[in-house]
Amino acid sequence: MSNVPEIYGSSVFNDSTMRERLPKATYKSLKKTIELGLTLDESVAEVVASAMKDWAIEKGATHFTHWFHPMTGITAEKHDSFISPTSDGKIIMEFSGKELTKGEPDASSFPSGGLRATYEARGYTAWDCTSPAFVKDGSLYIPTAFCSYTGEVLDKKTPLLRSMEALNKQALRILKVLGNTSATRVTTTVGPEQEYFLIDRELFKKRKDLIFTGRTLFGVKPPKGQELEDHYFGNIKERVSAYMKDLDTELWKLGISAKTKHNEVAPAQHELAPIFTTSNVATDHNQLTMELMQKVALRHGLVCLLHEKPFAGVNGSGKHNNWSMSTNDGQNLLEPGNTPHENTQFLVFLAAVVKSVDDYQDLLRLSVATAGNDHRLGANEAPPAIVSIFLGDQLSDIFTQLESGKVKGKIFNNILETGVASLPKLPKDTTDRNRTSPFAFTGNKFEFRMLGSSASIAGANFVLNTIVAETLQKFADKLEASTDLNAAIATLLSETAKDHKRIIFNGNGYSEEWVAEAESRGLLNMKSTVECIPTFIKDKNVAVFVKHGVLSKSEIESRYEILLENYIKTVNIEALTMLNVAKTEILPAAFKFSKELSDTINAVKATGMSVEVAAQSSVLKELSPVLSSFASNLTALKKTLDKVSGEAVSALKQAEAFSKIVIPAMEALRTDADKLEAILPKDIYPFPTYADLLFNV
Ligand code: ADP
Ligand code: MG
Repeated sequence: MSNVPEIYGSSVFNDSTMRERLPKATYKSLKKTIELGLTLDESVAEVVASAMKDWAIEKGATHFTHWFHPMTGITAEKHDSFISPTSDGKIIMEFSGKELTKGEPDASSFPSGGLRATYEARGYTAWDCTSPAFVKDGSLYIPTAFCSYTGEVLDKKTPLLRSMEALNKQALRILKVLGNTSATRVTTTVGPEQEYFLIDRELFKKRKDLIFTGRTLFGVKPPKGQELEDHYFGNIKERVSAYMKDLDTELWKLGISAKTKHNEVAPAQHELAPIFTTSNVATDHNQLTMELMQKVALRHGLVCLLHEKPFAGVNGSGKHNNWSMSTNDGQNLLEPGNTPHENTQFLVFLAAVVKSVDDYQDLLRLSVATAGNDHRLGANEAPPAIVSIFLGDQLSDIFTQLESGKVKGKIFNNILETGVASLPKLPKDTTDRNRTSPFAFTGNKFEFRMLGSSASIAGANFVLNTIVAETLQKFADKLEASTDLNAAIATLLSETAKDHKRIIFNGNGYSEEWVAEAESRGLLNMKSTVECIPTFIKDKNVAVFVKHGVLSKSEIESRYEILLENYIKTVNIEALTMLNVAKTEILPAAFKFSKELSDTINAVKATGMSVEVAAQSSVLKELSPVLSSFASNLTALKKTLDKVSGEAVSALKQAEAFSKIVIPAMEALRTDADKLEAILPKDIYPFPTYADLLFNV
């Protein structure tokens, strides 16, 4: 490989490129806009656009595109060339400030949840200068936010940017009241660890379920799964290693700091983690990472599966969302530190996160709810569907101390100022790392582990930022109004510890006891997406988004509709795919084998020799009832699906029907299909099996 520092960021219009290419005044003005979240000056945009175009053309670009994150969960782009005709029949390459800052894509075919009437197809994209532009495949990509003609947001990025702003505002108030005035901006940071599967492309092509749904709808667990624990951190096969190298290079070019790569628990499963950055850039980078993971795989004759549960019976894929808050002068607000002053600050921010997670368990759970993730959460491999926080022994102990009677009066001051001051600087990797916790403190950040592997991280992060902003606001109101700051902090911390200790759980999240214990603590346990979605429009949840200017009521209502629609469509596609494969591939294969067996039995009998046909008969006897059951479950699924799809009911009712009636019908059909797979000869079974897919890279 060539020089990594040289390739790193070579396709990005990053800070050093801007400094080099922009006039000093323009650079300064743009920097200020980026750092302070201000509105961009038009004349500045003009100069930036021109410099950006020249740079992009040197990098081989002929087009530019406003790149955005519609509610589909993937990114969208429409390319315009830089060409502009001149009077002499030639062209020049042009790119104006207006083209940089604003776009007008036809938005009629993106999910809008009823926000935008189809006759009003216009949508706007606006340059998000906090995430750098880049060149990819001959186009200059401009990260943008996407909204409707009437200004309602139609994307995943705008609420994220708004939530970062809300958190910044409230966090700065806390810092100020605590006497920490060196910082002028607080940003949330994210490092998402991305899990994925790699399978052989030729085998992939033979499975319609993988092609249409991203997961296998049929398939028996192979004789060997992940039980030997020999894949996790195992040595990386050459083909996979070549893929990973290629992927790293592509990511580095785009300034994505791919850092860690390893084999994951399941066979054919891997992980990539970048170095953390701001939530906004991390979101863009994660989308690009997922896109490149899939593209680069094709070059290596592989297919990258990002679905949360491509294979039943082995681990699914998630995304650990490492999250923290840091100031523009380099302080990580979740760094425990070891001076009293820092400890107080740390404890206030820690308490704020604990309270937020407890108060808004439902929103956090909702933020990771998708049809795909329903197969993982609570399935003894991913975190349970119950939201709780792991603090580790040291911090939990401190939390208990805060709550104890000692909090009142003098002794508390001692604890806060000496007891807590003695808090050891936590090692970055605490030894008692709890892999079963959905929300774990890991030294100087929280790791939200419930995210699905295919999801945009924007959703989980705008929820997290908003709910923490809300608590920080409550805290700031109290502290600013107090006459005795130390006493007010003491009360605040002790009250928070008392009111929210129920959310802290350091034990085994997979255990049955925890489910019962969580229930007695009054924690929510929402098992399915359909159960989660209605929480979005609960008054308290609408209120928190509206109050912090993250989403308006109508934007929430539209998102609620989109979530339901998305769920219904996903399950519907899966059911249709199942019907198709069952009817046109599995059933004929089973008939074929049945005929073969019957023919054999008859042929043997026809010889007139007195030989046994018991072996052939026993297989036929085993096959026949499974085949009948399979056929009747096939009809049943078809009927169920027709009925549920045809009903004129609300989206919620329909989603419930898909969850409660269609999915069980799909499961019944799968059970029979999997029994057939175990009976049918390898050469008759119509498509590659789990064993083929998981052990052939
Ligand atoms: P592990 O698998 O042990 O949890 P990894 O090294 O795979 O850890 O991933 C940890 C992730 O956490 C990395 O992306 C890292 O950059 C990120 N991270 C570290 N510090 C912070 C922080 N302050 N804010 C957000 N993310 C962070
Ligand atoms: Mg990891």
